[in-house]
Amino acid sequence: MSRYFTPALAALEPYVPGEQPKMQNLIKLNTNENPYPPAPGVAAAVAGAAENLRLYSDLGCTALKSAIAEKYDVLPENILCGNGSDENLMLAIRAFCDGGRPLAFADVTYGFYPVWCDLFGIPKHVVPLADDFTLDPAAYCGLGMTAVIANPNAPTGRWLPPAALEPILQADPDHVLIVDEAYVDFCDEAFGNASCVPLTKKYDNLLVVQTFSKSRSMAGARLGFCVGNAALIADLDRVKFSLNPYNVNSLTQAAGAAAIADEAYFAQTTAAIRAARRWTADMLGDLGLAVLPSQANFVFAKTPKMGGADLYKALRARGILVRHFAAPRTKDWLRITIGTPEQMQALATALREILA
Ligand SMILES: *Cc1c(COP(=O)(O)O)cnc(C)c1O
Repeated sequence: MSRYFTPALAALEPYVPGEQPKMQNLIKLNTNENPYPPAPGVAAAVAGAAENLRLYSDLGCTALKSAIAEKYDVLPENILCGNGSDENLMLAIRAFCDGGRPLAFADVTYGFYPVWCDLFGIPKHVVPLADDFTLDPAAYCGLGMTAVIANPNAPTGRWLPPAALEPILQADPDHVLIVDEAYVDFCDEAFGNASCVPLTKKYDNLLVVQTFSKSRSMAGARLGFCVGNAALIADLDRVKFSLNPYNVNSLTQAAGAAAIADEAYFAQTTAAIRAARRWTADMLGDLGLAVLPSQANFVFAKTPKMGGADLYKALRARGILVRHFAAPRTKDWLRITIGTPEQMQALATALREILA
């Protein structure tokens, strides 16, 4: 820290993303990236858009927003696109919280929520999950503050149906509930529409945040979108235009529209992840690990044989990178991204060796 750094941020602990090592042949199961490439049409769309890089990107993401609106059965005015869902979450927290308006979130959830609070001087209200990492919606009813819930949650993978979150929206109509649906596209199809997006038509205090990073294999493109009542979206737009109007570059806008257009590829790749998730959970169970039921593209698992940090190291020594969170409630666990069937086979082989 230089002597010029503002003392107001001296205590800020930045978010720590998963490692992005450049090692060859590493099986990378630590940041919930999709093992499959983006839809085949994405590369051509990006190449086409490159011809116009001379120009600023479309401020309103018009074509992309129309494509998203059509897919999710809402209007373009209900959508805001962002530089990853991280930006949309940041805009929402900036818009709906301040020094006197805290943000509520779980004790075991996405690690970026407390960082934004610290950055903006927003008080944090931490709501502990139950011992089995389930979230009780009743704990959020009538809190009287903005709340953010990751659903499915990370790093646990646990998910609640939209109807279970509805009482929160009803109990506190004067505060916004942000539902972070980074992983919702991986929910089992048996649940039907797992997203809270349809509820945005019924509740003007609901903001749903989604991303192209995971289910659409575009983490590097930095594209997210949120869906909500037009007035909420206009609030976010006010903040966006005060911060970074050209937040989504033109290559990414083109890539996003091409990805949305390919329903078949999306169905095929998300189905492959679900199938590999089922296989992985069974495999881990057979090896004696405890595995939380996951609706995401990762599983949260632990073994009684060794701590999470040791298992992380043993897997890393065998070229497999997973995520370990050293906090007291998560230190025994590992979050393992679901990759291809071959990568999951390699994980099984490594675990058999380590646990033998
Ligand atoms: C990955 C992730 C995000 C961020 O996604 P980007 O769109 O890549 O910024 C947001 N929330 C949760 C819970 C995530 O796991």
